[in-house]
Amino acid sequence: MIIVLKHGATKEEIDHVVQKIKEHGLTPHVSEGKERTIIGVIGDERTIQNLPLSIFPGVDKVMPILSPYKLVSREFKSDDTLVTVGQDRKIQVGGKRLHVMAGPCAVESLERLMTVAEAVKASGATILRGGAFKPRTSPHTFQGLGAEGLEHLVEARKKTGLPIVTEVVDTRDVELVARQADILQIGTRNMQNFQLLIEVGQTNKPVLLKRGLSATIKEFLLAAEYMMKGGNHQVILCERGIRTFETQTRNTLDLAAVPVLKSLSHLPVIVDPSHATGKWELVAPMAKAAIAAGADGLMIEVHANPEEALSDGEESLKPPKFHAMMQELKKIAAAVGREL
Ligand code: PEP
Ligand code: MN
Repeated sequence: MIIVLKHGATKEEIDHVVQKIKEHGLTPHVSEGKERTIIGVIGDERTIQNLPLSIFPGVDKVMPILSPYKLVSREFKSDDTLVTVGQDRKIQVGGKRLHVMAGPCAVESLERLMTVAEAVKASGATILRGGAFKPRTSPHTFQGLGAEGLEHLVEARKKTGLPIVTEVVDTRDVELVARQADILQIGTRNMQNFQLLIEVGQTNKPVLLKRGLSATIKEFLLAAEYMMKGGNHQVILCERGIRTFETQTRNTLDLAAVPVLKSLSHLPVIVDPSHATGKWELVAPMAKAAIAAGADGLMIEVHANPEEALSDGEESLKPPKFHAMMQELKKIAAAVGREL
């Protein structure tokens, strides 16, 4: 349920409600919005069935939450969540400024990573992406450099100042990746790896959660709910294309998911047009559409020499193309009241 407080409810009144909820073994989440404060209640509500919360001082009304997800929902928290990234916490995903996470699909060597890192930074990317642990569809393809790849990412961060986002695929690696990376990525193939979600939910690092290949919006939000329930509220949702009957593109970019997610949830939403389309020519048009649709940022694959890429070369932009796209995106961003 959510408890909506009256305009001007005092701190004492809020504390009193919070205290009573805790006394009954439930967890209150206080959200101080621009308009008014609301308290979301998590747990078995039968224990407060007979508590007349609606007549408590400062309480305006008490409402049930009908959706199966609670912490991720707009009902629970009306203001947009800002996910703060990086050691200096200067980057805020979900605010007026858009953030582009760019880099190679996989970290292939320090030298190749540095070339791309410098290039995307010069073009305006604010976060460096790169896979060290690669969950590839075929076991016979490049599986990533693992821990060595993570070290290269750390080195690239040191040299460029760009925070890094990288995927974690195994619960046994969560501690290691959380120590090194600025954002933990949960890939599409692991969106419903609940044990991994629980583990990542216990870290204090922001998470980039990619939508599962065949996940509904409800399943996607419930996956985010797993992490938030564990205490990690710094979650960024990423639409990266879903599986449909269409084979012309690698996946089908569900652009409507952007406004749908933003209305159902307070979490920031970004779009990955690289994996969504699988074709570099389609990346810029879909990136523009994503920003126009209200996305808070993008994830883009960039490679200096896509013909030689060890993974996803066909959907990777060369640095000059990435640069040109970023220039175009600035105009779209301005048209929808955002900054890039
Ligand atoms: C990736 O971003 O490196 C990746 C593997 O993407 P996805 O999980 O969306 O396929
Ligand atoms: Mn890739």
